[in-house]
Amino acid sequence: MANRKVALACSVCGSRNYTISSNPNRTNRLEVNKFCKHCGQYTLHQETK
Ligand SMILES: [Zn+2]
Repeated sequence: MANRKVALACSVCGSRNYTISSNPNRTNRLEVNKFCKHCGQYTLHQETK
């Protein structure tokens, strides 16, 4: 079974700045504060498909 990758997109500008491996055991949408180079500050990033 292939290891699925998901992107973390900035909730402010929508840029997909990070890519992570999805965990099949985790069903809730991941939300994490990360630095967005487009916004120039730390913003909330949300998991996308
Ligand atoms: Zn941004």
